[in-house]
Amino acid sequence: MSTNAALFERAQRSIPGGVNSPVRAFKAVGGTPRFIAKAQGAYMWDAEGRRYIDYIGSWGPMILGHGHPEVLEAVQKAALDGFSFGAPTEREVELAEEILKLVPSVEQVRLVSSGTEAAMSAIRLARGFTGRSKLIKFEGCYHGHADALLVKAGSGLATFGHPTSAGVPPEVVQHTLVLEYNNVEQIEQAFAEVGSDIACVMIEPIAGNMNFVRASVPFMKRLRELCTQHGALLVFDEVMSGFRVALGGAQSLYAEQISGFTPDLSVFGKVIGGGMPLAAFAGPAKVMAQLAPLGPVYQAGTLSGNPVATACGLATLKVIQRPGFFESLAQRTQSLVQGLVGAAQRAGVPLVGDSQGGMFGFFFADALPQHYQAVMAHGSDKFNRFFHAMLDRGVYLAPAMYEAGFVSDAHTEQDIADTVAAAAQALG
Ligand SMILES: *Cc1c(COP(=O)(O)O)cnc(C)c1O
Repeated sequence: MSTNAALFERAQRSIPGGVNSPVRAFKAVGGTPRFIAKAQGAYMWDAEGRRYIDYIGSWGPMILGHGHPEVLEAVQKAALDGFSFGAPTEREVELAEEILKLVPSVEQVRLVSSGTEAAMSAIRLARGFTGRSKLIKFEGCYHGHADALLVKAGSGLATFGHPTSAGVPPEVVQHTLVLEYNNVEQIEQAFAEVGSDIACVMIEPIAGNMNFVRASVPFMKRLRELCTQHGALLVFDEVMSGFRVALGGAQSLYAEQISGFTPDLSVFGKVIGGGMPLAAFAGPAKVMAQLAPLGPVYQAGTLSGNPVATACGLATLKVIQRPGFFESLAQRTQSLVQGLVGAAQRAGVPLVGDSQGGMFGFFFADALPQHYQAVMAHGSDKFNRFFHAMLDRGVYLAPAMYEAGFVSDAHTEQDIADTVAAAAQALG
C-alpha cells in the first residue's frame, strides 16, 4: 500500500507541486496532503485507509454527499449512451430549463465546463452588451483564474489593480477596479468617478473564498441602485452559493430583503455539476442574445453541456428540490457551527461562526469580519493547528483559513456530534 507521503513524493516528480489545483497541496496549513482513494456519503478514505468526515465536498459540488444512488444511476445510464457528441442533446435543454425554473432572474443559460470559464465569459458578455471596458470586483472574492480577475487593489481607490499572478501583464488588468467588500462609500466614489465606463460589477454575494462573509443588505441594495443608475450590469458569481445556500441561490435571499431585487447576470458552477465538470452563465434573453451564434460576443466549448456532466447535474438538482431538503441541511449546518462555537467557549478560545444553507465558516475571532483585510488580520496560526488536530481526529476541513466549509445531506446528526467532540478535544 502506498502512503500519502510516498504518493506526494512521487506526484511532485510528474505534477508541479504534486497537485492539479494549488490549495490541495496543504501549503497554507503545512504537512502532507491526503491522497483520496474513495468517498461515500459524508466520508472520504485516504490511500492509507483512514476515514475522514468530509467538510470540503469537492469545494462545494457534493451537496448530496458522495455516490448518491440516484445520481450514480443517472451518470451510469448517460455514460452508456456516449461520453460526448459535439452536437446538441435534450439533456442540455432539460438542465437549462431546470435552472430557469429555480432562478427567476434567468431567462437563458449557456453551459460551460468550469466556473473560471463561466465568470470569464460573463465578463466578456457584459462588456460586449454595454460596449464598456471597466469592471469592478471586490478584494477577497474569487471568480476563477481568468487574467482580468487575478487582481488585487491598487494603492488608491482611483488606481486600478495590480496582477496577483505572474504572467498577467498590467495592461490586461488596467480595466479592473478592486474595492473593499461591504464598503458603500467606495462603490459610491467609484461610480461617481468612472460610472459611465463600468461594464459590470462582479460579486460573490456570500463570499466563500475569504472563509464566509456575507454582503450586507444595505451594501447590496446600494450596489444594485448604482448599477441600474449607471447602466452597469450586476453579475452575481454564485458558483459556490448557487443551489447551496438556498434552492434559488444567494439572490433569492437578497430578493426576500430588498424589494424587486435581481442581479443582471449570474454565474453558476459546483453544485450544478454535482461533481462533474459543468458550470454556466445566465441572464435575461436580451443580454444572452449577444452571444454567438446569435450575436457578436464569441464563446464556445468542445465539452460544454457534456452529456454525462448534465446527467449528473440534473439528478443532483432533482434531489435538492425535495420538500424540506434545505431546511434539514441548514439545520444540521447550524448545529455544526453552534457546536464549534460552544466547544470553543468551553475551551476559552475566541471563535465565531456563520452559515447559510449547507455552507459555513468560522473564525478565531470575537466578531464576524466584514471584508478581506479583517479576515486576514487574525493570522492563520490558530486555524492551522486546529486544522491538523481535526485531521488527526478524522475530520477533513478545508486546508486554509480563507475557505468556506460545506455540509452535505449525507452528514448525519451523529457525524456532526462526532465532529464537535473532535473539536472539543482539538480546542482543548
Ligand atoms: C470555485 C469558484 C470559481 C471557479 O470555479 P472553477 O470551476 O474552479 O473554475 C469561481 N467563482 C467562485 C465564487 C468559486 O467559488
